[in-house]
Amino acid sequence: QSKERGGNQARFYNTEDTIQLNRRIVIEAGLRPALSLRQFRLSYQPVYQMTDGKLRGFEALIRWEHPELGEISPTEFIPIAEHNGLIVPIGEWVLRESCRMLASMSKYGLCNLIMSINVSAQQLQSSTFSQTVLHALKEHGIAPSSFELEIKEDNMIYNSNTAAAALSWLRAAGVRVVLDDFGTGFSSLVNLKHLPIQCIKIDKSFIKKMDLPSAEGIIVEGIIKLAHKLGLEVIAEGVEYKEQYELLSEWGCNYVQGFLLGKPKEPDMLDLTMIRCSAYTTS
Ligand code: C2E
Ligand code: MG
Ligand code: MG
Ligand code: MG
Repeated sequence: QSKERGGNQARFYNTEDTIQLNRRIVIEAGLRPALSLRQFRLSYQPVYQMTDGKLRGFEALIRWEHPELGEISPTEFIPIAEHNGLIVPIGEWVLRESCRMLASMSKYGLCNLIMSINVSAQQLQSSTFSQTVLHALKEHGIAPSSFELEIKEDNMIYNSNTAAAALSWLRAAGVRVVLDDFGTGFSSLVNLKHLPIQCIKIDKSFIKKMDLPSAEGIIVEGIIKLAHKLGLEVIAEGVEYKEQYELLSEWGCNYVQGFLLGKPKEPDMLDLTMIRCSAYTTS
């Protein structure tokens, strides 16, 4: 690489690569003690039902304030945690913390809500995953049907018997499973039938462009129709504009999530009483 650029041959990385590598090393080193140092938090983003604007529930999204680097996006540190295996204990923390939040929400009168968490393929690989989930739900008195796992299309989902067994087991116990970031992975529509899912979440990259003259609108409309024919519900993520909301509504999308309706938020108990019975209206 450096040869081609005619640079000093001893330099294998350019400055930018070096900075990136250093950042990765610092992040990886920081991830190990982050759990015990209680540096993670969860933000909750509301999801609304389109027919009546009622609150469906929340998606829990992890947040990490690194002592030196500041706030680091999960899109940056989750892949590192997946790589080094730390996603398993981090994921268990997310599970317990989101269960605790859902339990306190119902104490504040926010009932029949669905809490969704993101689950990495590596977590599904762990032989104790399904037990861990069911145990956490039981401990907090949460009905399995109030809890949802968001999984991404991944080779592992299709090729691992452990992952498939865990998902089927959890589905049988009543836990919801949704396919996240739909349209970005393998997206073999045929595979949809073979996954134990009830719902798909259309990736925000499609929502972003669908109100422009582009193919995305046709794709989104098609995905919704197809999902419904397969007996699946549809959530659209990344809804930022009213125009997008209106098109999704016209196309019969079941649920919406995005900055238009509410950003991910770290709740205090005061918010919990305020959002009780809240509904979204476009007017
Ligand atoms: P995701 O599961 O697809 O989550 C949706 C992402 O879109 C979130 O980013 C959310 O803040 C963002 N978002 C929501 N509404 C809008 C909108 O209207 N416009 C735009 N531009 N963005 C919107 P976030 O919180 O940075 O999370 C990024 C990804 O990190 C997640 O994507 C998920 O794949 C992963 N992640 C987050 N928390 C966890 C976790 O606890 N465990 C695992 N395994 N992964 C997680
Ligand atoms: Mg998600
Ligand atoms: Mg997503
Ligand atoms: Mg995403």
